This record gives sequence, C-alpha cells and structure tokens, in this order.
Amino acid sequence: MSRSKGKVCSIENCETESVRSLSIEKAGEALNSAGLSYKVARRRNRIYLCAEHYKKIKKYLKKAQKEERLRQTRGRPF
Ligand SMILES: [Zn+2]
Repeated sequence: MSRSKGKVCSIENCETESVRSLSIEKAGEALNSAGLSYKVARRRNRIYLCAEHYKKIKKYLKKAQKEERLRQTRGRPF
C-alpha cells in the first residue's frame, strides 16, 4: 500500500525515489548544514530523501540529536 508509488526525493534537482521521510523540523537544519536546498509543499510538513541524500545528512542529524540530548541533560535539575 505505502510502497506502491514512492515519493521523489525533496532535494533540488534530485529525482530519485525516496527511502525516508522526515519532518521539516528534524531535517531542515541538517539539510542547511549539509548545504542542500530542498523543495517542499508548504502544507506538508515532510521532507523526502533518497538513500544517497539521507546518507549525506545523516551525520548532521546525529549531531543535532546529540546536541539536543546534551541540552536536556544540562537542563535537568539536580
Ligand atoms: Zn536525493
């Protein structure tokens, strides 16, 4: 059902079928860090990524998550 018609990658000039979808909140910053521009329908809050582009931003995603975790740990009242 969900696999029949794949979405195309949201990165500019990329027409590869996507393998992942992420929220803009999650992926937007990583994409900016990676220097990739993306196109997204305004009312959909999702970014679709092909395997190659997902690989490219994965390290930035991880970094963002780690920073978030650090922030949370630091913010915890002891
Ligand atoms: Zn792509």
